[in-house]
Amino acid sequence: MRTASAGPEIERLITLLSKMPGLGPRSARRAALHLLGRRDALMRPLADALADAADKISACSECGNMDVSDPCAVCSAPNRAENAICVVETVGDLWALERAGAFKGRYHVLGGVLSALDGVRPEDLNIAKLIERAERSEVTEIVLALNATVDGQTTAHYLADRLEAAGVKVTSLARGVPVGGELDYLDDGTLAAAFKSRSSV
Ligand code: ZN
Repeated sequence: MRTASAGPEIERLITLLSKMPGLGPRSARRAALHLLGRRDALMRPLADALADAADKISACSECGNMDVSDPCAVCSAPNRAENAICVVETVGDLWALERAGAFKGRYHVLGGVLSALDGVRPEDLNIAKLIERAERSEVTEIVLALNATVDGQTTAHYLADRLEAAGVKVTSLARGVPVGGELDYLDDGTLAAAFKSRSSV
């Protein structure tokens, strides 16, 4: 990991950058050199933006979204439906759904999924708060928008069981042929799921 003839400041920068998802030591070295070559245009503004974000952005105590206000902008928006809560694994998934503009209710960020392999238990996730929210009288539907992975689906089944007692309708996203997708290019799992969830035309 040591870079020949680099001082401890550069080593520290590279080590920290290499902890970013998708950046190994090699790309961290490239990123460090890129930043050092653009000190005023990129490196200092980035350092300011990082410090600013670290100070001001926190997790919403209601839904787990990241924002400068608590409750977050989604939770406090007066024009969003109160009756439906969409459950997602990460804030990134919430952003993706917001970009699609398909859902106008509230969200709940679990902060991961159950995993026997990684030792993630129900108490490690933001589940107690979800149950509490689901039990409120105004909530009638919980939409599970979890990834179509084994752990995502295990978590969906666990949540569906836990939410049954809250007396809400529990739904999940359809799995199927993507818009513009060609059957020949789909993997077997997607094709099988699309066939299973076929509907009348
Ligand atoms: Zn929120």
